[in-house]
Amino acid sequence: MKISKELISESEIQKKINEIGNLINQDYAEKDLLIIGILKGAFITISDLAKRLKIDVSFDFMSVSSYEGTESSGQVKIEKDLDIDITGKNILIVEDIFDTGLTLSYLKNILESRNPKSLEFMCMFIKNTEKEIPLDIKYKGFSIGPEFVVGYGLDHEGKYRELPYLAVLS
Ligand code: 5GP
Repeated sequence: MKISKELISESEIQKKINEIGNLINQDYAEKDLLIIGILKGAFITISDLAKRLKIDVSFDFMSVSSYEGTESSGQVKIEKDLDIDITGKNILIVEDIFDTGLTLSYLKNILESRNPKSLEFMCMFIKNTEKEIPLDIKYKGFSIGPEFVVGYGLDHEGKYRELPYLAVLS
């Protein structure tokens, strides 16, 4: 497989990250925030977003898996859980891409059961916008088509995460 086309450019992505960073700065101006990055795909989003934040914020990471190759396995598994107790905290989950919603729905259930004060979601890329999204994503990046994409943290068999833009493989 090789990259066939750039879908979303680096500058478009950076502009969007700026906009979302500004919104988060406004929404959490008076509140502590714990951002939870979902590894591995969200590592670049988190890193770019973090540099725009001017609020009282901490970070933790979780690792989950649901995909093998280019197909969803239909199951979510926690590979690495949080280090921090989220009880009573304002939480923002940052995920790379939303496809079937399985990963975020699973995380919502697990994390709500730990009684955070608030729980919101940010997702950089959202696939198949015509289908109903089973949860409320407060901060949305880009709506994209159904193709398998790589770059900006997203991989194919461990490769292409480092690309500063989003691309389609062929
Ligand atoms: P969902 O659980 O919403 O179906 O899928 C979310 C997870 O599937 C993402 O965190 C990501 O790891 C993976 N995924 C879904 N679509 C793509 C894609 O187009 N490219 C890559 N690289 N991963 C994807």
